[in-house]
Amino acid sequence: MSKIRYEAIQESYNREKIADRHEGRRSEFFGSHVFNESRMRQFLTKEAFESVKGAMNSGNKIDRKMADQVAEGMKSWAISMGATHYTHWFQPLTGATAEKHDAFFDMDYDGRALEKFGGGQLVQQEPDASSFPSGGIRNTFEARGYTAWDPTSPAFLYGDTLCIPTIFVAYTGEALDNKAPLLRALSAVDEAATAVAKYFDKNVSKVTATLGWEQEYFLVDKALANSRPDLLLTGRTLVGHLAAKGQQLDDHYFGVIPKRALEFMKSLELECMKLGIPVKTRHNEVAPNQFELAPVFEEANLAVDHNLLLMDVMDKVADRHNFKVLFHEKPFAGINGSGKHNNWSLATDTGTNLLSPGTTPMKNLQFLTFFVNTIKAVDSYEELLRSSIASASNDHRLGANEAPPAILSIFIGTQLSAVLDELEGVSQGKLSPEEKTELKLNVVGKIPDVLLDNTDRNRTSPFAFTGNKFEMRGVGSKSSCAKPMTILNMIMAKQLRLFKKEVDSLIKKKKLKKDEAIFNVLREYIKSSKRIRFDGDGYSDEWEKEAERRKLSNNKTTPAALEVLTRKETLDLFDEIGVMSETEVRARHEVELETYIFQIQIEGRVFTELVYNNIIPSAVEYQNKLIRNVTGLKEIYGAAHKKVSEGQLEIIEKIGEHIAELKKHTDAMTDARRRANTMEDIHKKADAYCNTVRGYFDDIRYHSDRLERIIEDKSWSLAKYRELLFTR
Ligand code: ADP
Ligand code: MG
Repeated sequence: MSKIRYEAIQESYNREKIADRHEGRRSEFFGSHVFNESRMRQFLTKEAFESVKGAMNSGNKIDRKMADQVAEGMKSWAISMGATHYTHWFQPLTGATAEKHDAFFDMDYDGRALEKFGGGQLVQQEPDASSFPSGGIRNTFEARGYTAWDPTSPAFLYGDTLCIPTIFVAYTGEALDNKAPLLRALSAVDEAATAVAKYFDKNVSKVTATLGWEQEYFLVDKALANSRPDLLLTGRTLVGHLAAKGQQLDDHYFGVIPKRALEFMKSLELECMKLGIPVKTRHNEVAPNQFELAPVFEEANLAVDHNLLLMDVMDKVADRHNFKVLFHEKPFAGINGSGKHNNWSLATDTGTNLLSPGTTPMKNLQFLTFFVNTIKAVDSYEELLRSSIASASNDHRLGANEAPPAILSIFIGTQLSAVLDELEGVSQGKLSPEEKTELKLNVVGKIPDVLLDNTDRNRTSPFAFTGNKFEMRGVGSKSSCAKPMTILNMIMAKQLRLFKKEVDSLIKKKKLKKDEAIFNVLREYIKSSKRIRFDGDGYSDEWEKEAERRKLSNNKTTPAALEVLTRKETLDLFDEIGVMSETEVRARHEVELETYIFQIQIEGRVFTELVYNNIIPSAVEYQNKLIRNVTGLKEIYGAAHKKVSEGQLEIIEKIGEHIAELKKHTDAMTDARRRANTMEDIHKKADAYCNTVRGYFDDIRYHSDRLERIIEDKSWSLAKYRELLFTR
């Protein structure tokens, strides 16, 4: 057997169990590594504390004097915890996080050692940003980028480094990251939702978007994962025949968590607790060695940061437990892939979840208002929302026959559908006292009861209402939640602004009462957004046809899904809500396309390597063995050898055929790749990678997987699915 596969299997069998233990209750050390409110009170002057609070709650500026004080307090805390370095922690357009560590330590002018970290270093830094993707922003403007503190996300201690969450912007003001646009969208939705929430409660002065993500992932033994060049370089297996056993027995889902995985989870949760990531649930997922982790929901910006941090922590903890975490959306063909459901809602500073029905008719009308406006927003901008979850790796789920489809639709269940149907019949203009009573008692009033038994879940829906929140299910397991959260909150801000305007106009011009005006506007929204509602099977062919009739988009590939970003109405919307300028949107589109090209390009290269360096040599090795056998038989049996070597000869031939096909498709793919690489226009290049280069992958895989089936186990050099998926 190939040495590397053999040794990896040996190593995986001989793992020693690693178990981290921690004394004390979790609640006691939750957030122990976070510069949170209670630490701020302890380490900051009252003035500085108030200043940070003002920045957190109202976006006030922190002046330089205060910044110096905050930096001093933060540094004292961090050093008391053993920190030696600090970094601005930011989210470049690569989708991951970046950091550049600086020591607190500095030299005085006469050579004495100092511990230096002042307001200047806290508030702003200039990382050497030239190698982060900018979609041409920096070239166009010859501007450098800087990182600036985001006080709404607390600093934390990670290892021996104080991490300060920051945005990353060009000196000309353009955002070079995913956080700045998110913060702008969150601020817009705050403003728009607060104005609408005031119809129902005058005391509301702030609305926060909430996000509770669910992270799915695979755990594979480190040695085995590292033995596969494709897993190492692309995060997924490009070839691999399905193990005899897959997920057909449904024996993994919610089953007993394998011991080694459980120890990993315990260590991980410990780290998360220290970092203030409120992880709550852990369980097995559908596929073998697939798991899920979910926290308690938080304010969206913080939740996005926590998810990004979590993925990094997972990598590190897994390494210690001799695992590799696979975040890729489709690491293995033939079994389920991974996603990252984004549970989303809006909450007021008076403690109300705006997507949760309440105890009074007014509260329920409030619920309906936000509920219907969300449906309307998604209906109006379904294609834009789809674009926010597009990536080469997520195409394997959204564009293929796996959960959820590339068509955006909303599931609300039969009972709520019935409520909306009733509301469609609300009279135009003023309502009679009888109609109002009827609405209050029998339609709006019944909502809480309706929701109590609204348990029918539709797992195929990409955007489902689940009782007190919407769940966006198409987000990729690997990607940052920042992009979908930016778009969702932006379109919600736009929709709520429109709603407010229409309601106010009915009140003023038609002299309607507030609730009458609201019912009137909602009725029209319900009517005009019907096409986005779908409670049936989202995977069926019928739905695809039906969605086409409804004129819903069905963009199966990333380049197609991103196209909406170039349209004028999209650019106008980003501009109107103040989320991104045209330059910023176009830059992102370019970066996304570039990333897409690189990913398919890398996969193509790895395919060539695998075929020539692993698969064909394995096949030839076994073929030679058979040839020696047949030659031997011929020596013994002479002309009669055919009878005893028939099977072998057939296999020899089959191997030859598959090798020829493999070579043919791989060479054609390489040619297509070369041609694509000469293209100047990035859109054409992305299309070439998408429609031509990628088109060869399935054929290459097919012949490789056929070979894997007929070649003796010992000769096959790549770790097999059964080893990757069932090593525990
Ligand atoms: P499940 O969907 O598995 O039945 P839950 O309904 O309890 O579980 O919640 C799933 C996820 O939804 C959790 O990650 C939770 O944090 C999140 N969630 C719950 N309420 C909200 C909310 N108001 N806003 C955002 N996320 C929420
Ligand atoms: Mg879920």
